[in-house]
Amino acid sequence: MSHENTTVLDRYPAYEAVIGIEVHVQLKTATKIFCSCPNQFGCDPNTNICPVCTGQPGALPVLNKKVIEYAMLAGLATESDITRSNTFARKHYMYPDLPKNYQITQGDLAICMNGSIPIKTIDGQDKNVRLIRMHMEEDAGKNTHGTGGISWVDLNRAGTPLLEIVTHPDMANSVEAKNYLTRLHTIIRYLGISEANMDEGSFRADINISVMPKGSKTYGTRVELKNINSFRFIVNAIEYEIERHIQCLERGEKISQETRQWDQKNQKTTFMRSKEDAQDYRYFTEPDLPPVLIDDDWLTAMKERLPELPHHKTARFQTTYGIPAYDADLLTEELDRAVFFEEAAKICGNGRGVCNWILRDVLGYLKEHKQELHEIKLTPQGLGDLVKALDSGLINSKVAQDIFVEMVQTGKSVATIVDEKDLKQIGSTEELEAIVLAVLAANPDNVAKYKAGNERLFPYFIGQAMKETKGKGNPVILQELLKKHLS
Ligand SMILES: [Zn+2]
Repeated sequence: MSHENTTVLDRYPAYEAVIGIEVHVQLKTATKIFCSCPNQFGCDPNTNICPVCTGQPGALPVLNKKVIEYAMLAGLATESDITRSNTFARKHYMYPDLPKNYQITQGDLAICMNGSIPIKTIDGQDKNVRLIRMHMEEDAGKNTHGTGGISWVDLNRAGTPLLEIVTHPDMANSVEAKNYLTRLHTIIRYLGISEANMDEGSFRADINISVMPKGSKTYGTRVELKNINSFRFIVNAIEYEIERHIQCLERGEKISQETRQWDQKNQKTTFMRSKEDAQDYRYFTEPDLPPVLIDDDWLTAMKERLPELPHHKTARFQTTYGIPAYDADLLTEELDRAVFFEEAAKICGNGRGVCNWILRDVLGYLKEHKQELHEIKLTPQGLGDLVKALDSGLINSKVAQDIFVEMVQTGKSVATIVDEKDLKQIGSTEELEAIVLAVLAANPDNVAKYKAGNERLFPYFIGQAMKETKGKGNPVILQELLKKHLS
């Protein structure tokens, strides 16, 4: 990950943008929100369905308690106000994947209100993105459109529990939008309430953008970007869209209120549908569901279940282990990575050392081999031992690299690998001095050239001596000895 600190707005200083984001998170409950059908991804079409989630007349919804608890966890993690008596509402529209012709969602009395999420600005400053609300609702089914005017409807997804998280238009550019989404994604993963997988659609972001002359009191016309399934594409789409707005405004054209999608192949946004005549959804309170009442005991119990949050972990890693802010952010980006780090750091007592190994070697290996942390054989104990062996001088850093790769692939301990391959560092001055003298004796010409002023030959001698030790020599002592005997 790079420190990105430029956006398209740098090229147009007379303009500013405001960005608000709506995220739909599919909650990882065992069953759907209003029935006992399995909440599973990837099954054969229309296998996880029943009269409730297919909207049969007379079928009644029963709210899944886990959904309320997951929403409460998300609310508490974002310092939202929890609405002690919240209600469901019907949002009416007709679509083939919505057999009831209305979606059960929450209206004015949503479960979480007025939260906030801390992010970094483009200059690395702290900023809070304010949340308007978070509410529970059901997902619709899925339409697949074939050729010849034929479409299929799969209702497996109908009734999947969703949490919709809506921000104020608090983000000023694509970097802040990406930082917000990354942080929200991390929080959701820490809470364990969703897989939050963008490819599978369990974390979906809709981006609202408007652009106006700098200092303007009124926002420009709002355009919505929908169905973008990667953070990187979202950044590209926002950058493109802001520039498109600015160029329209410069030409004196009017921007129309519409929904657009990202065309990754051609690197541009394209028109999806107009919002000029927004539908009236005729919301009214859902008569088949009583209000959700949350008492003090329940709220307290949920507070106790709240894990340490990523931004709190980041701050603690900085103070406890002396890790720089940027590195601490990377370590805490995934919970398993943060836990791995901390266990290894406790074993060797060198947090910074472990941090460097994880961010450079472990993440590098995972990226190169397209693997996840839990798929490799390296354990926190193993990495802790490796750093300890290096710090104590048992092995040198060249050997440590080789041991690291072997540990990742075989899961063997440092001690076993050092024994099996006889990799213990040669740190005895007498032993190394004999090697240095032999190397110099074998290369009289180069010694003469060096002494005549060709100091660039020094690494050559280091290399020769290291080769004699089979890579196990202590490099610091070797350097000292070579300097001594060459001067
Ligand atoms: Zn069902």
